[in-house]
Amino acid sequence: MAKGFLLIISGPAGTGKGTVCKSLLERNNDIIYSISATTRKPRTGEANGINYFFIEDEEFKEKISKDEFLEYAYVHTNYYGTPKEFVMDEVKKGEIVLLEIDVQGALQIKKNYSEAVFVFLLPPTMEELKNRIVKRGTETTEDINRRFENAFKELDFVGEYDYFVVNEKIEDAVSDIESIIRAERLRVKRHSDIKEKVISKGGK
Ligand code: 5GP
Repeated sequence: MAKGFLLIISGPAGTGKGTVCKSLLERNNDIIYSISATTRKPRTGEANGINYFFIEDEEFKEKISKDEFLEYAYVHTNYYGTPKEFVMDEVKKGEIVLLEIDVQGALQIKKNYSEAVFVFLLPPTMEELKNRIVKRGTETTEDINRRFENAFKELDFVGEYDYFVVNEKIEDAVSDIESIIRAERLRVKRHSDIKEKVISKGGK
């Protein structure tokens, strides 16, 4: 059986990570999405158990102490974390699990899981990035400025990732990620039984 893997997608706020991931999942129903826990309040249209598990600070800290997160980080004044048991069970089953997480979380995973694939989503320009954050209209001016400042800091870490994808057009960005997945699925290290598989098909 082919080994599963974690597919990490990061990128500054406003690069369109959410939209790209949603489209990727719609086009590939064999990819599993990891729903994070967060202490952030839901935005309009977000639902508990679909976008995030929205929990209180106290519950989040309890989960940290019980080692229930694969990684967690404090991002833009809130905690976010990836549920460990769920994602690792899926990977063990041979699934590809998509994690849409920030740079701090990605770096924690990089230290511990060498099999993960890291993709950094970039905006076409920083000007376009700012336009997108403003247009979203869900944040206060203070939030917008904080997220824009953070975007520059996050860009410093693009070198830690395996791939970059520029999100100029959503369909193109999704196709690029699909190409990455196709190639990663063919890595010999993910098919420990590939020789036996070919031989077992007969012909000797
Ligand atoms: P938002 O509040 O806009 O949904 O997300 C803010 C940031 O938190 C984004 O960069 C998003 O990728 C990141 N994020 C979401 N879930 C997680 C998680 O489980 N872990 C970490 N480290 N970051 C997360």
